[in-house]
Amino acid sequence: MIIHNARILYGADFELIRGYIKVEDGLISEVGEGSIRGDLDAENCIIIPGLINAHVHILDSVAKESGIGMALEELVRPPYGYKQKILRSTPKEKLVAAACDAVREMMSNGITSFCEFSNDPALSKQANKEAKIYYEPTMVQMDDDVATNKLNPSIVDDVHEHARECDGIGLSGVGEFSDATLEKIADLGLPLALHAAEHIPSQQRSLALTGKTEVERAVKLDPGFLVHVTNPFEDDIGYIVKKSIPIICCPRCNALLGVGVPPIMDFLEKGVLVALGTDNVMLNSPDLFREMEFLSRIISHVHRDPGTISAKDILRMVTLNPARILGMDSGVILEGKQADLLFLRPHRNMSPLGDVVSAIVHRADARNVWRVMCGGRTIYDSSVG
Ligand SMILES: [Zn+2]
Repeated sequence: MIIHNARILYGADFELIRGYIKVEDGLISEVGEGSIRGDLDAENCIIIPGLINAHVHILDSVAKESGIGMALEELVRPPYGYKQKILRSTPKEKLVAAACDAVREMMSNGITSFCEFSNDPALSKQANKEAKIYYEPTMVQMDDDVATNKLNPSIVDDVHEHARECDGIGLSGVGEFSDATLEKIADLGLPLALHAAEHIPSQQRSLALTGKTEVERAVKLDPGFLVHVTNPFEDDIGYIVKKSIPIICCPRCNALLGVGVPPIMDFLEKGVLVALGTDNVMLNSPDLFREMEFLSRIISHVHRDPGTISAKDILRMVTLNPARILGMDSGVILEGKQADLLFLRPHRNMSPLGDVVSAIVHRADARNVWRVMCGGRTIYDSSVG
C-alpha cells in the first residue's frame, strides 16, 4: 500500500517531509518526498507515529468521577481502597463494557498501543487483545510484615500464576510488600515494573518501616521501568540514573490527586528515558493530547520559564520513548518500523499551521484524528466513528 499526498513527521527528530509512505506486510518499507500515485490519499494530513499510552488502568473506567476528591491511599491503595471495592462489587460484564469504551476512546484519540496494569488480566484482554498487560496483584502484605521482612510465598505463587500469561508484573508499589517477597517476585524472571514515590506519605512510610525510600527499594529489584516518581527524596534520582531505569510519568493524574508535579526536567537533564501515561480512567481521560498540553504548561509554570521543555521532547514521550521502554518496534516513522500511524487533519484549531510539533502538543485534539493505523491496518476511521 502507498499512502500519498501526506505531510510526514519522519524519524526521531520529526523532520517534516511532504510525500508518501509505502507499507508492506505491516511495516514501513519506504518514505519519500514528492507526489506519486498511491492507494490511499492522505488528503494532506499530517502523519505522525501512533501515540502510545505507557500507563493506564482501564478496568476502573466503570467508576468515572466517583472517586474525585478522595486522597490517593483511600482511593487506590490495595487491598481496601475505593477502587478495589468497586472492582470486586461490579459485575464483570459491566467492567468489560466500560473498559471497551475506554479502548475505543483511546483509538479515537490517536492511541495505537497502551500498557495496562491490571488486577484481572483476563478481563483486560477481553477489552483489547493487543495491549501490553502487566499483572498487578491485589494480594498484599500489611505494614507489620513489611517492617519484619516476612516472606509471603502465596503472593509469589499468585504473581507467578497470573503474570506468566501477561507481558510482565506491575506492582502497586513496594509499600505493600516486604523486601523478602519482592526479591522472590523479581526472581521469577518476568519483566517487572512498579509504581513508586507517587506521594510523600508513602515515601515516609517506607522509610519508617524499612529505613529506605520506595525508590531505593524498587531500584534494587532492577525493574524495567518505574511509574510516577513524582516525589523522589534526596538520593532517589541518583539510584535511578545509576541503573538507567526509565520512568513513566502521569502528570495530569498526579495534579488531580494533589500529589505534585514530577521533576521531569531533572530526569531529562540526567538522561533518564521518560514516557507519559494517563493512569486510572476513573480519574483521568485516556487522552495523550491533553497529557502533552498539560505537561508543557505545568513545566513552564513550575520553572517560571516558557522555554523549559521542547515540544519535540514531549511528543517523543508519547511515541519513541514508550516504544523503547516497552520493547515495541513502533513509535517512529522510519523504514523497517511497524506502520502504526496517526493521520491528523489540521482543522481551524491548528490553522494557519505554524510549528507543526508545537501545534500537535498545544492545540491538537480528537477532532483532528482522521485515521489511525496499526501495523498498516486501519483501526479507527473518523468518517465511520
Ligand atoms: Zn497506575
